[in-house]
Amino acid sequence: KVFAEAGLHPIVLQNIALAQYDQPTPIQQYTMPIILEGHDVLAVAQTGSGKTAAYMVPIISKLMGKAKKLAAPRPDTTAPGYNAMRHQVRAEPLVVIVVPTRELAMQIFDEARRMCYRSMLRPCVVYGGLPMPITRDQLGAGCDILIATPGRLCDFMDKPHILTMSRVKYTVIDEADEMLDSDWSEELEKIMGGGDTNDDADHVYVMTSATFPKGIRRLADEYLADDFYRVR
Ligand code: AMP
Repeated sequence: KVFAEAGLHPIVLQNIALAQYDQPTPIQQYTMPIILEGHDVLAVAQTGSGKTAAYMVPIISKLMGKAKKLAAPRPDTTAPGYNAMRHQVRAEPLVVIVVPTRELAMQIFDEARRMCYRSMLRPCVVYGGLPMPITRDQLGAGCDILIATPGRLCDFMDKPHILTMSRVKYTVIDEADEMLDSDWSEELEKIMGGGDTNDDADHVYVMTSATFPKGIRRLADEYLADDFYRVR
């Protein structure tokens, strides 16, 4: 199997080539078509298996086709008054990727940046411990793909002038088993509930987990569509 036959957007294909991924890993081979078709999926996969690109590539590919229409407008950073204005722009991400640790958040941000290269889509990362003004600036600078730790994300969900989840089309819970172990279940509930007006019919939910214990099964049953796919 090769990436070129997966039905991906040409810019994503270029970015895959730039990243020097020659062929999809098994988890990518199984997961990509499911997400491209708009189904929910639980990917049981270890770090190192290529699980990040397994969801990142198809999600970005889908959005690229509509990026002109969907992506956050890019502010003119040279315009007079930009510095004052940027603090007032609200982030309206299309993708939210929730991760248990800031290290993972940074890694995923790198992958997102690689795959978004030469597109209209802008990734952005926030996590606990990152100074608020920096976070605020990033969110205000145009944020299509938000990568976040649960605590910080929930903080922002309480501040609708900074962040709205109402345009989110893809929600990813990465390393859900870690998330359960660190007892983020209350935050997950809030994030998965969305708290607002998402049209759930075309909202795609993805979960990854290195293991498949009862807790993960329960989480998948609760948050993924009834006909979700499980790949490993
Ligand atoms: P992950 O499992 O997502 O943590 O990815 C592990 C590493 O594999 C990352 O450094 C990726 O950049 C790399 N990677 C992901 N997909 C591929 C691929 N198809 N071919 C080669 N390397 C890859």
